[in-house]
Amino acid sequence: MCYIWQNPTVPAEEVTLATLEKIPHVIDNLNISGGEPTLRRDLAEIVDVVYPKARVVEISSNGLHPERLEPIVRKHPHIKIRFSLEGFGDTNNQIRGEDDGFAIKVEGLRKLRELGGTDLGFAAVIQDGNVDELVSLYEFARNNGFEFSTSALHNAFQFHKNDNYPYDRMRLARQVERLITEMLKTHSVKAWFRAYMNLGLIRKILGQDRLIPCTAATDFVFIDPWSDVYACNVRPDLLMGNLSRQSWDDVFSGQLATRIRDQVAACNQNCWMVTTARTAMRSHWAPKLPKMQPLSWVLKNRLRVTVGLSVDFSAIDYTKVLPDREVSLRPSFFQTAFKRVVQHAADSHYRQGEFFNR
Ligand code: SF4
Repeated sequence: MCYIWQNPTVPAEEVTLATLEKIPHVIDNLNISGGEPTLRRDLAEIVDVVYPKARVVEISSNGLHPERLEPIVRKHPHIKIRFSLEGFGDTNNQIRGEDDGFAIKVEGLRKLRELGGTDLGFAAVIQDGNVDELVSLYEFARNNGFEFSTSALHNAFQFHKNDNYPYDRMRLARQVERLITEMLKTHSVKAWFRAYMNLGLIRKILGQDRLIPCTAATDFVFIDPWSDVYACNVRPDLLMGNLSRQSWDDVFSGQLATRIRDQVAACNQNCWMVTTARTAMRSHWAPKLPKMQPLSWVLKNRLRVTVGLSVDFSAIDYTKVLPDREVSLRPSFFQTAFKRVVQHAADSHYRQGEFFNR
């Protein structure tokens, strides 16, 4: 799903604590992502710097070194932790190239809960190789008191990868419908809105336009390992500035920021990632509250499910589905040796290219 691991950063060039200090104390959601955040030896210090700045701070990890998160959870029990998990047993191992990943992650989250963690869960990327386990995985997470968030395959410059596409799009979409129905049957408001998020994922999987226009560069940004601030992590041409050399206000004001917001408004990528879709679903002025579009869909369909009716999927046009890809399935990378490709400082950090997300 991503080749960041083949393009490791040089630690001395990575974003510093002093740069992260420049982030103002007005952030709603701040996601510390990767690569793999637990590889930063000063992750605990990073969390100490950003924790007071945001209502919710999240660490997205592969979950293979949960012990590195233990001191953080002890100190900040309400921090949000999500471990990438693509399925049970072999499914997870084959997709992620892990050895016994499922057991390590489940045990890791249990340990973090024992230490006081309150917002712990799994994150799965819906794809051909795991979609049949999707609903069972969700039920497993629920039954064990863990959260479960989903995304779908995307292409992005940050991933160094541009060939992530589903193959059997219709099969994926129908399974996500099942997940949505299960989420709406619960008594969790969070799950109901996740159902809407998954509705957007169906559109993404089928190659259709986003449910809600993108708010990149206005309601969210992506800070890369070199402190470069981009409108999002998909398009490398939407560079707004550099937080190590500029102030936060300089990055967000001025002609360049205005021009990039205009480019975002005209962007025809159909990405629907957790962080960006969640932001689009929320009110600009009161980010804790949803916009009217998701709110009305949630209320209507929660009611329908409560009275025994099926969910209304009319937001999806099943006559407009991109054809399945006629290429062979990718090989498994499990237990395969790769030569490390180191990116040099003189590079512009990313292999430039077009990133199409249909
Ligand atoms: S829709 Fe365009 S601007 Fe928004 S996140 Fe996707 S690529 Fe970036």
